[in-house]
Amino acid sequence: MRPSPLCRRGPRLLRKGPSVLSKKPKLPLWLVSFRFVPCAMEGNPSTLLERGEEMTDDRFAQREPAMDRRAFVAASTAAAAGLSLAGCAPSVEKMAETGDAPSEPQEQAGVWTTISCMQSCGGRCLNKALVEDGVILRQKTDDTHEDSQEFPQQRGCLRGRAIGEMAFGADRIKYPLKRKGWQPGGKDFHPELRGRDEWERISWDEAIRYVADETKRIYSTYGPRSVLVPSAFGSALHGYLGGYVGMWDTNSQGSARLGPSKLGLTDNAKRGQCNDRYDMATNAETIVLYGCNPAWSAMGSPTWHFLAAKERGAQFVFVGPTYNASASMLEARWVRTRPGTDTALLLAVAYEMVRQDEAGEGLIDWDFLHTYCIGFDEESPSRDGEHFLGYVRGDYDGVPKTPEWASEICGTPAEDITWFARELGCDKAVFIASSFAAYRCNGAEDLPQLMMTVGAMGGHFGKPGHACGVYYADSASDGPVNLILTGGSGEAEAAEALGVDGPDFGFEAPDDLIGSSELWRAVATGSYRFVGNPCGIDVVPGEERTIDIRMIENGNWSPMRSLLDTNQAVEALRGDRVEFIVNRSFVPRLDAQYADIILPLCSDLERDGGTLMGTGDGGREVVFCYSQVCEPVYESKSSDEIDNLILEAMGYDHRGLHPLSERQKTFNEIAGTTVADGSADNQVTLVSITQEDIDACGVEGTPQEGLISWSEFREKGVYQIPRSSADDGYGYIAYEDFIADPQKNPRESESGKFEICCQWKADALNAMGYSEDTYKPYPTYHVPVEGFEQTFDDWGAKKKGDYPLQCYNPHYMRFANGVFGNTMMLASILEHPVFMNNEDATALGIEDGDTVLVSSRYGSVLRHASLSPLTMPGCVGLPNGAWAQLDESGVDVAGAVNSLTGSVCVGMGTAGYNTLNVKVEPYAGAALRADAAAQVVLAANE
Ligand code: SF4
Repeated sequence: MRPSPLCRRGPRLLRKGPSVLSKKPKLPLWLVSFRFVPCAMEGNPSTLLERGEEMTDDRFAQREPAMDRRAFVAASTAAAAGLSLAGCAPSVEKMAETGDAPSEPQEQAGVWTTISCMQSCGGRCLNKALVEDGVILRQKTDDTHEDSQEFPQQRGCLRGRAIGEMAFGADRIKYPLKRKGWQPGGKDFHPELRGRDEWERISWDEAIRYVADETKRIYSTYGPRSVLVPSAFGSALHGYLGGYVGMWDTNSQGSARLGPSKLGLTDNAKRGQCNDRYDMATNAETIVLYGCNPAWSAMGSPTWHFLAAKERGAQFVFVGPTYNASASMLEARWVRTRPGTDTALLLAVAYEMVRQDEAGEGLIDWDFLHTYCIGFDEESPSRDGEHFLGYVRGDYDGVPKTPEWASEICGTPAEDITWFARELGCDKAVFIASSFAAYRCNGAEDLPQLMMTVGAMGGHFGKPGHACGVYYADSASDGPVNLILTGGSGEAEAAEALGVDGPDFGFEAPDDLIGSSELWRAVATGSYRFVGNPCGIDVVPGEERTIDIRMIENGNWSPMRSLLDTNQAVEALRGDRVEFIVNRSFVPRLDAQYADIILPLCSDLERDGGTLMGTGDGGREVVFCYSQVCEPVYESKSSDEIDNLILEAMGYDHRGLHPLSERQKTFNEIAGTTVADGSADNQVTLVSITQEDIDACGVEGTPQEGLISWSEFREKGVYQIPRSSADDGYGYIAYEDFIADPQKNPRESESGKFEICCQWKADALNAMGYSEDTYKPYPTYHVPVEGFEQTFDDWGAKKKGDYPLQCYNPHYMRFANGVFGNTMMLASILEHPVFMNNEDATALGIEDGDTVLVSSRYGSVLRHASLSPLTMPGCVGLPNGAWAQLDESGVDVAGAVNSLTGSVCVGMGTAGYNTLNVKVEPYAGAALRADAAAQVVLAANE
């Protein structure tokens, strides 16, 4: 049987003393009983309701008296799934070793259907729903075959099994809504009432008329520079209308997002930097999990691949501020380091590798450094004659980067740094897998280059068992490039063929792109720093620009939750600049609550279907094809449908934007999907399609031959490439071709090599001008804003300041970034506490489970404290993913990360979530109510 990171493995997972998993806050009472508590959303009780009655299964289904049958059963579904999460729900099928409890036979009802997870965790799992009459009766995960390393089940996590409640819960947005205090025309729009106003239900005709008229007025009056789409995904609609102000975004990847190809690394930091999972499990001797915690963030196959390596005998090292669930599961040695101090740590590791090598330990692969890299030493210095080795030795600043120097900053004992450096030597196969966590810090600008440098010193590139780079649970593949490529939708080609142009309001399309770290400040103050498009590796010298945002369009994304500084967002949206905010959503995220018009969007479960990888993307070994559960519920519509209605109401031809039906696009995506057959380079068509299939779909297409039939792919909802070994033709060794022949296969950097001195990097960072720091071509240490040093008033005298602790934001089992923040069944099972060191807490008079107020320079949140010696002293972990609920005093009772962050835009302008100074104090007010007792429901929606 395959072990699970959560519970299937039983005591073995928890035997390392008080692990984070075993250490629960002491509040079991409210985990089993839900009592009414006063509304936390003071000031707007008529708009936002809180649910807090005692919740039993029956009451869960009965609590909405006005529900029709569909809504009633959907709610029942949530309750059933909740029981399933608790391990109590009987299954109607024998599960193939998925670890679910044995079940009593029951009468079979419905059809098991592959559904979308709608997640943003980065993983991909097979998510099945038992659907009857358009209603989810139960959920399960992959039991389509026996589990093995060759053909692993693609198991979902507890979040995936909560998708029914997430989409069809009591908070579902059912109808178009208008904020009562808002009036069109740019005069009586009362921005001060946003987030506290009442809502009124309106018809779709009214809603579309409001949106069309306001869009036309604002484009005609102010031009496209007044329209903000706060999403890195952009807006096809507003591109068609003449452009908009967009955003470049490093929220997920931090400093790893900008310019890796210029360093010689694989360009997309998400894929291709590390070797195949089979190679890791077979050949790696030491696996370094640098900030990784898949047991919380991506609990299915990505976690299992590490377990396979452990069972084969690999040793694990974990680097980070908390000895997390994955480290515990893998029995890793812990190299503790404070948040945002990784550059200091790795500089000292480099120093120690050199010292030990000179002492005869033979740790450094000098051939590798001189053949495949530039800039390490005097053999290839930067243009000013300096090099990395000279900096590490202290030749230029008089500061040798010794373990003792680093230890004062990063908190890692000097002897652990020495040990870690020895562990990274070239005499064994080391697989350095980093998550994005350490890169999401202020002062981490040089971390990708430094991680590469340390890996290069050990020669850990391009060989079996050796790897160094971002190893991310993306497309259930963990790193390497995709073996399966999905087809394109064909929409852009069809639109071009039609030759229908969008409207012309007489303005040039703007080139404005605002960095996500300062987006809300830009809206509030009317100015920002234009630096080009760094995510597109197009950096220009920084230039202060004025900007006058009058309209914001939010799709099904949540910038108020996801971007830095929610408090600034509230200020920006309640200021007098933004005249109109339209939001499309199926659940009332914070952005919907602060909108003027809400358009009810249907979820993926109500769409015709598609591949989970998305158009033109793909997967490593597996591709999923999800199906429709039901027609759009209540009055919700798809995004394409909404676009088309808006354009028609504005008097424009929507075919220039959406010339194809959604079904046609899905068909094209599936028809164009190819998979590796026999070898990674041999791509063949996946799906056979007959004329009958095309006719039955009601689309246009051409019959084709593939590996499996259309009906089989749609019914199974999954196709997976069977593996047999690391050398089965599907394996992947990152940078293998470059290592084999660097002249014939140069990297994309200017030198064609790994650039330990990279002039482009130095020039780009210095040109941006976000900081007064000067960046060198080689990696150097920069004191992070909101970093450890800034927890002191006087660093030299070691006198602590007002915010003496460091807060970081671990990804957590209950949330997948911004998804599942509304899912009460997860809230009832998993506490969302603030994790802190037990001795720190004792010194502050805080006990496990106490309500505490966590405050930064920018805001405050309330949480229960969860105490453990496995969090480093001086550090607190506030999980990422909650949806803020700000009371009128500005305190967030839901504990969202960005209620604490500020618009700090330094260095590369990347989002520094994991470097934040805070203080924690016992809360003098009423104890915090349970998260599961407080769901935001828009009252007028009922
Ligand atoms: S790991 Fe991610 S993709 Fe898989 S079921 Fe959980 S949330 Fe969904």
